[in-house]
Amino acid sequence: MWRELKTLISSINSNKCWYCESRDMRSDNAVDHFRPKGRVARERHEGYWWLAFDPRNYRFSCTFCNSRRVDEEGGTSGGKQDAFPLADGSKRAVAPDDTLEGEFPVLLDPCCMPDTDLLWFDETGQVVPNPSTARGPSQALRVKTSIQLYHLDHVKLVESRRRVYLQVYRLIRAADRTYRRWMSGDEGAKDVYQDLLVQIRSQAVREAEHSATARCALLGYRVSSGAADAVLRFL
Ligand SMILES: [Zn+2]
Repeated sequence: MWRELKTLISSINSNKCWYCESRDMRSDNAVDHFRPKGRVARERHEGYWWLAFDPRNYRFSCTFCNSRRVDEEGGTSGGKQDAFPLADGSKRAVAPDDTLEGEFPVLLDPCCMPDTDLLWFDETGQVVPNPSTARGPSQALRVKTSIQLYHLDHVKLVESRRRVYLQVYRLIRAADRTYRRWMSGDEGAKDVYQDLLVQIRSQAVREAEHSATARCALLGYRVSSGAADAVLRFL
């Protein structure tokens, strides 16, 4: 039953880790319990055992986001494990009858739109607080803690995102040049322009690995690139 459920959960986000959007690189994917089921790190807490079979507590996760890993080569470490820190002012649930609404998790939840909107991916492949949304100190702290605990600064992951960003950049530049040719009377350029827009869009659709990085690249060039703006209208 668990295997069938895992397949279903995996398919929801095109087999990508819900935290880092990796598909294979950091594989051995597991179903993570967002609220740890057995114990809570650095707390006198027996874990959210009553949520062990609650699908709302499941997040499809790669090994690097889910488990402790040290990347000697890149000098980084991370992995969520049993961590589930709460912000000041929270009332932690300790039993099934306790409400979860009094908890303000520090870790960003990939199932919560305002949370995912706090992240921004830059041209180097690094993830940083979104300058448009993560404006308060608590949001910046949540981003920083999430980067560390989900190991989002893992060098191979950063490099993978950087390649996506660079690819989008090259494609939008090529598309902008082709568009200008079309506008100058070269009717044959229109099909090439169309093909380039399709290629850019394929990097930014939800199913693509690191699509959030591709979308940040498009948003970053939206004003200076007509192609970036066009693709964003078709997402
Ligand atoms: Zn991951």
